[in-house]
Amino acid sequence: MKERLQRVKDRIAAAARACDRDPDSVRLVAVSKTVDADRVARAIEAGADILGENYIQEARDKFNALYDRPVAWHFIGHLQSNKAKYAVRMFDLIHSVDSHKLAKALDKEARKNEKVQDILIQVNISQEETKSGIDAAEAVELITGIGTLENVRVKGLMTMPPFFDQPEKARPYFRQLARLRDRIAGAGIPGVGMEELSMGMTGDFEVAIAEGATLVRIGTAIFGARQ
Ligand SMILES: *Cc1c(COP(=O)(O)O)cnc(C)c1O
Repeated sequence: MKERLQRVKDRIAAAARACDRDPDSVRLVAVSKTVDADRVARAIEAGADILGENYIQEARDKFNALYDRPVAWHFIGHLQSNKAKYAVRMFDLIHSVDSHKLAKALDKEARKNEKVQDILIQVNISQEETKSGIDAAEAVELITGIGTLENVRVKGLMTMPPFFDQPEKARPYFRQLARLRDRIAGAGIPGVGMEELSMGMTGDFEVAIAEGATLVRIGTAIFGARQ
């Protein structure tokens, strides 16, 4: 695992340098869904400093076992409003906010916890019916509304393109997300930051880095194929 993790970090750094970016401007989210707490602990010892989890109940079990470890917890799966309280207690960054209702639920729980919850807005660039995320055309309106909430802070955008065998095919989706980020940043919406772009997985993260990713979410290349 240590070797795999190091190889992924080396590839991230090489991809950043190849497009004249500072390697430190890209952070690795080690996606640990379906990976048990013992292996996650080993990944932390091997140098993973951000974990990405998809399911609240699974994350709670691991969080209870590992909460004192030096690692940040990110939520990257679909989140239901009625799970907001668990999400706010555990996660440093929630990548997958795609509705005002969810943002309001997070805001309310964050206020109770005297926390400001950092979030990303998930955008469904490909407009696939099955995918979570707000349509790009509706993102500005959603983000403007969320910007008025005091206990959540928008830090950027996240997307998940359709699955392709060839990573180059994902490039147009990454590029569109980066353009949308530039447009929203240019609009200067009060209370909204646009420094983060969460995009790129095992099969396509180098292309995502070339298009501006600041957070890459990688599971298989670190932990092996999921069952
Ligand atoms: C599972 C998952 C990943 C990681 O996928 P790999 O192909 O294993 O790297 C990234 N992002 C999200 C949202 C996921 O659900």
